[in-house]
Amino acid sequence: MIRTTHVFKQYADREVIRDLDLHIEQGECVGLLGENGAGKTTTLRMLACLLLPSAGSIRVNGVDAEEHPEQVRAELGYLPDTPPLYDEMSVGEYLRFAGKLRGMDAARLKRRLPEVLDQTGLEDVAEQRISTLSHGYRQRVGIAQAVVHEPAILILDEPINGLDPVQIVEMREMIRRLRGAHTILLSTHILTEIEQTCDRILMLHDGRIAAEGTEQELSSRLGGRGFVRVEVRGGDEARAKALALAEGLGFSAHGAHAQTGALDLEGDAAGHPALARALIEAGLELARLEPRSSDLEEIFLQVSRGDPPVEAPESATDAKEVSS
Ligand code: ADP
Repeated sequence: MIRTTHVFKQYADREVIRDLDLHIEQGECVGLLGENGAGKTTTLRMLACLLLPSAGSIRVNGVDAEEHPEQVRAELGYLPDTPPLYDEMSVGEYLRFAGKLRGMDAARLKRRLPEVLDQTGLEDVAEQRISTLSHGYRQRVGIAQAVVHEPAILILDEPINGLDPVQIVEMREMIRRLRGAHTILLSTHILTEIEQTCDRILMLHDGRIAAEGTEQELSSRLGGRGFVRVEVRGGDEARAKALALAEGLGFSAHGAHAQTGALDLEGDAAGHPALARALIEAGLELARLEPRSSDLEEIFLQVSRGDPPVEAPESATDAKEVSS
């Protein structure tokens, strides 16, 4: 459905996207995960034909985006990081306007509008001016304008950014409802969002895809290793002693937490009780021994720290094009 081949993007003399090869199949919901500045918005803007790559090609449904941008845009719905809303219009007026911009005639708009209002939970505010809406509702209007023309592909740039927890749950449910009708690519820097919404994850770091796969595939690349955060009281000396004991039990250090100085360790998860016992028996004051919340988080941290990307399992490589 979407395929990019060796895509690069340069701003002035700075390269922000490097050799991006990605493919998205019809019906997938794919999450683009990366810290701020990783290149998510740039990638999505290129896919939405709003920005030209400096090199490489983008094909949507087999159509080259550079050669036929209008054709590609007709297949796409795009929610930018700041939705392009007109405050003085009512929700209904704005959606009719957005539909007309995409070439919808009056009859099609009349049929489609109630559907869109229903899909995005906007029926009750259809007559309301956009300026009076809360951030959560404005975001729904942003989604509604992206889907009004029933595009095959939906590209959502940080759809949950700035939403409160209740609004996040509502947005998540809306995205789930939209999945049947559209292939979806969404970006976020929030890991739990991706875990709960997407089939497949692309981790972007410094303009490159640093890891990709389903949550299960990515987790399995860690080979069942466990990650644990250990905090001992008593400053550097106590920390050094704790680290030596942990290393003696087969754990390896993965850095220290910036604020608390807690040690991030990697090793066999089954060894956590033995580690706790060893620290206490050595007279250390153990404040915390906490298995890390998710393997995916660990991969994300590795990627964000710029550690070498985890190897793709053999089964995942066949979908990738081999460059000659
Ligand atoms: P993300 O969406 O992951 O936060 P962006 O794609 O917005 O990342 O930005 C990637 C990098 O490109 C950042 O370092 C950003 O500062 C830079 N950048 C983005 N837009 C421009 C621009 N128009 N001109 C110059 N640099 C830009």
